[in-house]
Amino acid sequence: SEGNDSSERQKLRLPEIKFTRLFINGEFVDAVSGKTFETIDPRTGEALASVAEGDKEDVDLAVKAAREAFDHGRWPRMSGSERRKIMMKFADLIDRHVEELASLDCADAGKLFTHTKFLEIPQCAENIRYFAGAADKIHGETLKMSRELQGYTLREPIGVVGHIIPWNFPSTMFFFKVSPALAAGCTMVVKPAEQSPLSALYYAHLAKEAGVPDGVLNVITGFGPTAGAALSSHMDVDKISFTGSTEVGRLVMEAAAKSNLKVVSLELGGKSPLMVFDDADVDTAVELAQIAAFYNKGEICVAGSRVYVQEGIYDEFVRKSAEKAKSWKIGDPFDPQVNQGPQVDKKQFEKILSYIDLGKREGATLLTGGKPCGDKGLYIEPTIFTDVKEEMTIAKDEIFGPVMSLMKFKTIEEVIERANQTRYGLAAGIVTTDLNIANRVSRSVRAGTIWINCYMAFDRDCPFGGFKMSGFGKDIGMAGLDKYLLCKSVVTPIYNSPW
Ligand code: ADP
Repeated sequence: SEGNDSSERQKLRLPEIKFTRLFINGEFVDAVSGKTFETIDPRTGEALASVAEGDKEDVDLAVKAAREAFDHGRWPRMSGSERRKIMMKFADLIDRHVEELASLDCADAGKLFTHTKFLEIPQCAENIRYFAGAADKIHGETLKMSRELQGYTLREPIGVVGHIIPWNFPSTMFFFKVSPALAAGCTMVVKPAEQSPLSALYYAHLAKEAGVPDGVLNVITGFGPTAGAALSSHMDVDKISFTGSTEVGRLVMEAAAKSNLKVVSLELGGKSPLMVFDDADVDTAVELAQIAAFYNKGEICVAGSRVYVQEGIYDEFVRKSAEKAKSWKIGDPFDPQVNQGPQVDKKQFEKILSYIDLGKREGATLLTGGKPCGDKGLYIEPTIFTDVKEEMTIAKDEIFGPVMSLMKFKTIEEVIERANQTRYGLAAGIVTTDLNIANRVSRSVRAGTIWINCYMAFDRDCPFGGFKMSGFGKDIGMAGLDKYLLCKSVVTPIYNSPW
């Protein structure tokens, strides 16, 4: 009955789910095919909502709306300060609905409610304000020129953007991409991940309420190989900004190359090293390592999953890490005491467990964890392996779960060499009080972000993106705005035309 239904929803702390249809040209609509798919609550394994399943025809409609809004609409043509005003209002609306938005992400993706409500979503609103503040400061340069010519550059919006985003930070990823693209004057189609589509639809509604014109921000929920692939191979999309796995990043780039050579930026996987030196305070370093490896259940591209500890403190570090991991509280992510919620879906859950099994079979020592926990839901104990070697699969592959590989090193040269022994290059951490070590290691490790005596210290002012097979192109910071702009050169003679 409905009564039971609503008390069950209350127990699960679920808000009413208002938006489940595609958002095209300012309207919520069903998929052309009429199909829907279920998005699952990983705490229970049960369906949260049925969501419209967009496919190629829906992507075509959304791109058409975005194309029209770009080619003839107000958004790219209005002044930056007008865009700023609308974006500021969008941010205020997010602040007003933070509780509901956080509940959607947490029920959809098993994220910690207090973090999402008090940190992540408020930071999303701030991210919009940051880029809103840049919207009226986009300009080119006056060039020196070598002849009697006047030359200057214009910075123009790149056009229709397709944003393909993952499920681990549904709101943060949405705004890493949408905020700078809006500020630049682009129009866009967002394809959220099928595991966590709900908040993106809510944001589309709030954007409309804030005054973002119809067609500027469209959201197509659906699956990767259908809706995602249609977007990346679309002839009328000018740029794809993708965050997700390295395998899919490769498909996106291939689709771009095979269609219209759209500009691509990729934020992909990682296998980031955290290097702890002998002079570090062990308790602080242990805590940092666990945040690095286990935060958001290890479902984070920058996870510090390879922890290198110098030999002088290694034994103490291992002992304290085991104790601390055991004290990590696992359970319903809506409970403020809980440190770790369920993995996002069954596929990820099983993949993580199979990596743990592989770690054991390849000869690493299981220090702690390694098992599922709880009688229902997709929970996995924080897991630490020691005696890990770089050639083992668990040290090479991105596991995307709460699994740390602990390794001992002797010298700074050795740890630099080993830290770089990866095809990825997203982030790295250094724990030391020695300035010379910090400087030397931060210049020698090939990764897009280096955190010294901190980890995951994201800031919207700090460009974020990987080296090597972690992708290319930056999200956030002013570099994150650049990628939604094209540079046009304009040349005119000062006196007489040379031709
Ligand atoms: P994960 O493996 O962590 O789920 P994915 O890289 O598969 O990450 O997913 C990230 C995003 O890419 C999701 O929105 C997903 O739907 C989308 N995606 C998956 N496959 C494709 C594809 N072939 N083309 C475009 N997008 C895709």
